[in-house]
Amino acid sequence: MDVRLTAFLSLFWLVGALPQAAQAEWLQRTEAIMGTRIYVELWDTGPAHGNAAIDAVMAEMHRIDDLMSHYKPESQLSQINARAAREPVQVDPELFDLIKLSTHYSEITEGAFDITYASVGYLYDYRRHIRPTEAAIKAALPAVNWRNMLLDQQHHTVRFEHPGMRIDLGGIGKGYAVDRGIAILKARGIQHAVVTAGGDTRIIGDHLGRPWLVAIRHPDDKDKVVTRIPLSDAAMSTSGDYERYFDEKGVRYHHIIDPRTGHSADKVRSATIIGPTATQTDGMSKTAFVLGPEKALEIINRMPEYDAVFVCPDGRVLYSNGLRPPAPRPAGASKSDVPKSTAKARKSGVAPQPADAN
Ligand code: ADP
Ligand code: MG
Repeated sequence: MDVRLTAFLSLFWLVGALPQAAQAEWLQRTEAIMGTRIYVELWDTGPAHGNAAIDAVMAEMHRIDDLMSHYKPESQLSQINARAAREPVQVDPELFDLIKLSTHYSEITEGAFDITYASVGYLYDYRRHIRPTEAAIKAALPAVNWRNMLLDQQHHTVRFEHPGMRIDLGGIGKGYAVDRGIAILKARGIQHAVVTAGGDTRIIGDHLGRPWLVAIRHPDDKDKVVTRIPLSDAAMSTSGDYERYFDEKGVRYHHIIDPRTGHSADKVRSATIIGPTATQTDGMSKTAFVLGPEKALEIINRMPEYDAVFVCPDGRVLYSNGLRPPAPRPAGASKSDVPKSTAKARKSGVAPQPADAN
């Protein structure tokens, strides 16, 4: 279905793996679920055990899709969109909690992340090159406001306090599904694995002694890599303007919407967030995309558990402090003179490259 991932996130390992138990092997599988490519790779001592674990992850992706897809009219999410403007709609605690969490992201990002963006977002159809007129955006925009979503914690109900409201969990659901997949693998004792859904990836352990390398693709060429990020026990999400889009008269209309304007956000070509869980990095990657590098880096550089990489419209690649290479030490300076932020960079060992690098 969605072939973008082959280049978008090319996961591969470094040679020189440590010797392991005789029958252990890497198993991998790709399936098309949630309108995207799901990839699971893991190291296990027996293929039967390993394959059963992959089956369980894929089944979990289907379960989450059935619950949260806005494409499926019978999903609970679609039920909210159909009825919540008229009455409170009761949903499973799991869906309720994810909606609640998404409002937390809205709060800390002053609305840059907002699942009610869908009130205007649904007017775009990237496949059919359809976009709303300015008048249609203006009419729909007042319905974009997460504060008009009434969440009743006790009864797990959702109510829209504004007509024309819609929600869409496309900006956080895949990250959540990846985290659920990782939890399933951990519960089965898997210690080395990667789970990817679209632009969201999470990794357990390392690749037998070395970090996994996750590539960030060039925005205009899926076969070119801008940089590779070494990751162990971490999550990474990339949002790019090259995923679902069409171009018209030199303007790119794509799927990441600035909730304040109803237009596609255009401060960057891609925003990548690295952090502890994929739910977090997924939510943050839209935020970073909408806010742009200046504001987003200010926030990320204050949060030690997160890092970020931006590919700018002019081709520059910007890194958060934790990924920057160490500054050259002046002659005669002692180790303790090295700025604190560079210690993290040395650990991660990212070598920044220009966006046109191969
Ligand atoms: P992927 O689908 O590969 O995970 P992203 O993580 O970049 O890609 O998510 C893009 C999706 O996020 C869009 O298709 C849409 O469903 C949703 N979205 C777009 N803009 C916003 C926004 N401002 N706030 C929350 N969700 C958004
Ligand atoms: Mg995502």
